[in-house]
Amino acid sequence: MKHLLLYFYITTLLIFSNCYISNDNMTINNPKNIILMIGDGMGLSQISAAMYSNGGQLNIEEAKYIGLIKTNSASSIITDSAAGATAFSTGKKTYNRAINMDVDTLPLRPITSLLSNYHIKTGIIATSSVTHATPACFYGNQIDRYHVDEDLADQFLKTNINVLMGGGEDYFNKRSDKRNLIDSLKNKNYVVIDSIIDFYNLSTEKLINFCAPKEPASILNGRGEFLPLATKTGISVLNTNNSHGFFLMIEGSQIDWGGHDMDSDYIISETLDFDLAISAVLEFAKEDKNTLVLITADHETGGYGITGGNTKTNTIHGDFLNDDHTASMVPIYAFGPGAENFIGTYHNTDVYYKILSSFQIKN
Ligand code: MG
Ligand code: ZN
Repeated sequence: MKHLLLYFYITTLLIFSNCYISNDNMTINNPKNIILMIGDGMGLSQISAAMYSNGGQLNIEEAKYIGLIKTNSASSIITDSAAGATAFSTGKKTYNRAINMDVDTLPLRPITSLLSNYHIKTGIIATSSVTHATPACFYGNQIDRYHVDEDLADQFLKTNINVLMGGGEDYFNKRSDKRNLIDSLKNKNYVVIDSIIDFYNLSTEKLINFCAPKEPASILNGRGEFLPLATKTGISVLNTNNSHGFFLMIEGSQIDWGGHDMDSDYIISETLDFDLAISAVLEFAKEDKNTLVLITADHETGGYGITGGNTKTNTIHGDFLNDDHTASMVPIYAFGPGAENFIGTYHNTDVYYKILSSFQIKN
């Protein structure tokens, strides 16, 4: 009898541990959803400065799988945000200022378009205008990133993207050709809102939110909770009737602008705001258990360094090499099923291929 009990005990243990292992194996390389978060210009010093001014800790630290990204473009050791985001969105290095164009100026297919073929829903959130280089690379094609906002708004209309949130409403409804693209968006069944208060109790699978006519304010100038709220709302819209998974790109756009302004306070406040969005994303991913979260940058901005400070008063002193991008590698943090595939040192273009293989899509 004693032996029989022991036998049952051990068998039960084995069955349960086996279930656990096979369950784990099922989800490990196969997330249903992927959220790619890009801190524009967010190098290690930017993260460190935000961390020290926040009492020595950030939400990003919850992502335990960490790698390093080589950011150079095809035309320069120092990338701009257009070539950087094109690498993430198409897997191709290209020349600076290109929005999803290859080195011969031939159009490349953005990842959102490819994923929608697999019925994966897609979304884009930024704290810049939605036609700025980084978000534009997730839906548009332009030979040169500058002075093409209205053309990009037009290109967005031709996509199947479910969620678009950020600034740049004027490029849709105050256009030089007098067309009102907001009406066209509504005809395509988008709910279009421009107030952060409207974010609650939405029930739609297609949402556009404009938080500013052109570029949104910085945190220091009163942008408020737009990014963390947009993040929660964007996720909940994409997760409504979500049978095939979703891909969401969230950009902390203005960390880079703080670097160009050589302004530590601007960098820190924007990075902390981005970290709040990270917290919202991780909260969802922990509950969902089927979402891979990637947090990275397109490049570093400013040659920013911490040259002094005080951990008791949470103050830092930052200094800059110049007011432009640098070629330093940037970190990538991963959380969730398949996160282990993102450790190591590799090119920005590999992020694209790793995302596709996480979705089990052959390229
Ligand atoms: Mg950007
Ligand atoms: Zn920049």
